[in-house]
Amino acid sequence: MSVFDNREYDNHEQVLFCRDKETGLFAIIAIHDTTLGPAAGGCRMWPYASFDAALTDVLRLSQAMSYKNALAGLPLGGGKSVIIGDPNKDKNEALLTSFALFVQRLGGQYYTAEDIGIGINDVEILARASEYVFGLPTTGDPSPFTARGCFEGIRAAVKHKLGLDSLKGLTVALQGIGNVGRFVCKDLHEAGAELVVADLNPEAVAYAVETFGAKAVGTDEIHSQDAHIFSPCAMGGVLNDDTIPQLKASIVAGVANNQLAEARHGQLLHDKGILYAPDYVINAGGMLNASGDIFGRYDVNQVMERVKGLYDTTSRIFEMAGQKGQPTSEVADDLARQEIAAGRASRE
Ligand code: NAD
Repeated sequence: MSVFDNREYDNHEQVLFCRDKETGLFAIIAIHDTTLGPAAGGCRMWPYASFDAALTDVLRLSQAMSYKNALAGLPLGGGKSVIIGDPNKDKNEALLTSFALFVQRLGGQYYTAEDIGIGINDVEILARASEYVFGLPTTGDPSPFTARGCFEGIRAAVKHKLGLDSLKGLTVALQGIGNVGRFVCKDLHEAGAELVVADLNPEAVAYAVETFGAKAVGTDEIHSQDAHIFSPCAMGGVLNDDTIPQLKASIVAGVANNQLAEARHGQLLHDKGILYAPDYVINAGGMLNASGDIFGRYDVNQVMERVKGLYDTTSRIFEMAGQKGQPTSEVADDLARQEIAAGRASRE
């Protein structure tokens, strides 16, 4: 199947297939749109079951980066990259350097950073071979900023759906207590919310139970908890034909990328009266923080102000969706496309 026939191909500007026989590198860099600025988005390393699965993932993730950056008000376009392989077995300095040289050869059209399977140590290796790398120690760990944006999105959803200014006494079922999830737990706990959690990693679960008094449930039942809010903070695709009919929460708001298995699942949530806070809108906090490396200036207070501003962005999407009777996911996509079109028009 050609790239152009892939269901996630959305007029991407460039898709680069990177192969280096010597290091065993197989990677794909997808540049979705550079209207607002250079494409920026992390690099994921994952043992994809097939080449098509990797291509589908990178095409979808790079489009989401265009929309995320546009709605976060960043002068950046959308891009993403995937390295096909098992980060626990196949990752080494030569492979990462080889990948970084491909990024370097793009001459600044695409900036890369960490993502699943690529950690901060790996990013430092990438930065030795390419100047187009962000999310460096200068801006630090993006996780608390991503979490704070999600917390603001949850607050906005609670206000819109339940008419409440406080999270006190509300129950949040949170899936995935990883780098970001544990900060989301902390923010929610401090705001007085009750937590129900699940993770594949028993140590992560024990941490949430001991630190935040969370109740632990199985990973196959977290989405169907009797909670006010379901917060997906693990992997993508969790909102699908199987899980949506089982949801009891009236709000879905979490940090995981690509929560909707397919775009039509946004409509399914809408039809069930569930308010969905679009993932790429409320998980932009880490990007707002890490992009300081691209612009060569960083002020943590300014970043935090912008992260808190995600409350207003999310509220605006909810209001427009209510007025139009449309799913929030579609309204967010429309708004992002309008931002990009306005950027194009102002350049012409
Ligand atoms: P992470 O790998 O640190 O944490 C993910 C956690 O989810 C792990 O503890 C893992 O054990 C758990 N998990 C995996 N599958 C699960 C399942 N089926 N049920 C329950 N738990 C499961 O990742 P992270 O950095 O915390 O990121 C979480 C999500 O947020 C990812 O989708 C990521 O793409 C997205 N995201 C992260 C950032 C960031 O700043 N790191 C920014 C934007 C979006």
